[in-house]
Amino acid sequence: MLDVKKIREDFPILKREVNGNPLIYFDNAATSQTPQVVIDAIVDYYSNYNANIHRGVHSLSQEATDAYEEARIKIQKHFNAAKPYEIILTAGTTHAINLVAHGFASILKEGEEILVSALEHHSNIVPWQMLCEKTGAILKVIPQTESGELDMDAFAKALSPNLKLVFVNHVSNALGTINPIEHIIKEAHKVGATVLIDGAQATPHIKPDVQALDADFYVCSAHKICGPTGVGILYGKEEWLTKLPPYQGGGEMIDQVSFEKTTYAGLPHKFEAGTPNICGGIATGAGLDYMNAIGFDNIARYEDELLQYGTEKLLEIEGLKIYGTSAHKTAVISFNVGNIHPYDIGTILDKLGIAVRTGHHCAQPIMEYYKIPGTVRASFSFYNTKEEIDTFVAGLKRAVTMLS
Ligand SMILES: *Cc1c(COP(=O)(O)O)cnc(C)c1O
Repeated sequence: MLDVKKIREDFPILKREVNGNPLIYFDNAATSQTPQVVIDAIVDYYSNYNANIHRGVHSLSQEATDAYEEARIKIQKHFNAAKPYEIILTAGTTHAINLVAHGFASILKEGEEILVSALEHHSNIVPWQMLCEKTGAILKVIPQTESGELDMDAFAKALSPNLKLVFVNHVSNALGTINPIEHIIKEAHKVGATVLIDGAQATPHIKPDVQALDADFYVCSAHKICGPTGVGILYGKEEWLTKLPPYQGGGEMIDQVSFEKTTYAGLPHKFEAGTPNICGGIATGAGLDYMNAIGFDNIARYEDELLQYGTEKLLEIEGLKIYGTSAHKTAVISFNVGNIHPYDIGTILDKLGIAVRTGHHCAQPIMEYYKIPGTVRASFSFYNTKEEIDTFVAGLKRAVTMLS
């Protein structure tokens, strides 16, 4: 059992009011809130050892370098990567995916196939479309089913020796579906395809073991796992990170530079050109420490309780339809009520201090599938409570009465 009351004390923002009401934050799938230990890590860095890393002989630079590299090792351990240099710190999931897509531009050939899923975030669609434009490769899609799951028969049919890359999210941000990535990775590898998993939405609930999964790449964002914005994690197998060319040129990523020829630094520096988000990297490590101390099994179990409770309560509302009804879901509930526009519901809930997301959730193909403009999305975290869900459902009932 989680001591949620005690956990809530760790998050200063949960004490504030919005529009005269206590904040109820149900937009965790967009970004998580920040515990005091992470805020402290940021303040400590800028107050006590702010310096540029890796090149300085002076003490501050050494301290900052040590803290940054310690964070990398924390991340390595969290994901069970074989080597610390298989962890590349980026500016976010989007940046990490673009880095990999850029690298494959010199590897992929015309007519070869790339497979993405219909449940992807735009950031796991658009970079691959750009890659196809550059290389002449062909983009194929694993379709979704009515319940918001991937059509695995269609996936099986898409497997061929011509398939080179597969991109799937571990969890859909719009619907919460947990995808069968173990199976997808295993089957894709049988035909020699490389697999990138977008874990941005899974990592707040699940501790992935990249070696057990045998993922070639696994990416996520720190700001969804109690860390700061502007930091992403790219795990890549050593053989792939060695094979891919650098993404950006500049300082830090070089070995020798002359106007005749430049040689690149080894991993991970080859992919970390320029001064990185030093403080952000360190704070990311602090966020993972915080969540690991609570325990991901405890987090997942409690959030599942919230999901079941919230689903039951919401379905009491007449005309409410939930999109994404897989038995394997994280605590995301995407819904509409009758023909009421999601934006109108979101606006009234905000007046009551309740933060939900409305719209297409950067996943327009899913909205097209259901033929809707968008949904209202409530996403729960381990610091949310059943009482908050009660207040939310009561507020939603009020909104529905006002709008219908
Ligand atoms: C949030 C999210 C992204 C984008 O992450 P950024 O931090 O905005 O780069 C990509 N994919 C999924 C599944 C997400 O939930």
